[in-house]
Amino acid sequence: MPVCKGQVVSIAYKLTDENGLLIDEAGTDDPLVYLHGYNNLIAGIEEALQDEDDGSSVSCEVAPDKGYGAYDENLDLIVPLDQFPEDQHDQLAEGVQFQAPHPESGESLMFTIHKMEGDNVYVSGNHPLAGKNLSFDLEVCGIRDATEEEIQHGHPHGAGGCGHS
Ligand code: ZN
Repeated sequence: MPVCKGQVVSIAYKLTDENGLLIDEAGTDDPLVYLHGYNNLIAGIEEALQDEDDGSSVSCEVAPDKGYGAYDENLDLIVPLDQFPEDQHDQLAEGVQFQAPHPESGESLMFTIHKMEGDNVYVSGNHPLAGKNLSFDLEVCGIRDATEEEIQHGHPHGAGGCGHS
């Protein structure tokens, strides 16, 4: 049974950037488990895995448009500290994430604090992998039909059912 929409697929993977630097990996003993065909993974990976059989290995190059999107310099912002509510100031630190509206579209977006300097907070709404050409080595290590409940929720459930309420 090859990988197709509505199946729960387990994959081992190795992700490297265009310089061959390892970014992330998961082995067959701790695979990534996802529901195929529901945009749970970036398009480049789901396309590469479509119709692959259990046990097969596939490598793919993923450009930003099939990955984490183009890098948008307009989303790198310097925000004066006093624009954050006073009672949140002691929670602000490098690496902290928060939701805020996109400066143009107003859509809710996840921002990450990259630097605190004086009265300024340097934030970015870009995904850490935005604008990067990514290389994936993928190995399919499990395929099963999703249950109706999993299809409804749009994600796979573990042995204990839905892991969230
Ligand atoms: Zn669920």
